[in-house]
Amino acid sequence: MSDDPRFKPLKEQDGFAIIPDRWKIDYFASAGELSRFFLELKDNAKIMGTRCPSCGSLYCWPRSWCHECYVDCEWVEMSPRGEVVVFSRIEINLNDLQQMKPPFIQGSVLLEGARYPIVSFFRDVAFDDMHKGLPVKAVFLPAEERTGRIRDFYFVPE
Ligand SMILES: [Zn+2]
Repeated sequence: MSDDPRFKPLKEQDGFAIIPDRWKIDYFASAGELSRFFLELKDNAKIMGTRCPSCGSLYCWPRSWCHECYVDCEWVEMSPRGEVVVFSRIEINLNDLQQMKPPFIQGSVLLEGARYPIVSFFRDVAFDDMHKGLPVKAVFLPAEERTGRIRDFYFVPE
């Protein structure tokens, strides 16, 4: 442990006033040139990725440019199918903004052809039936429930 006072917790018995408080911050974030990923989720129930025209790498999460070739990538529709890479069961409420009530399973899926996995949720599967390599497919929420966020879809076993 450092002797740096910034790393010591402040305590009331040391004469500090400890005031419980909470921050609520409303804000907007722009996805910039990768906005199409979120718009296609909401409007067309499609998972979009990007492909490097030079090396062919398929990125989902999309990347605007290839970090290997330094060229701009092109939009492509991803397969909704993939396989489980890692997963965990969430059993506690992390905060009031958590929209899924525990317990639920989250993890990452490598979509067909993709270079890297994406993080999402799993439904209609028991935790004990989950395993690395489990074939899964994306299922989208009904159009009226989609908001252009990653929660617009989840994965189920194929
Ligand atoms: Zn490339």
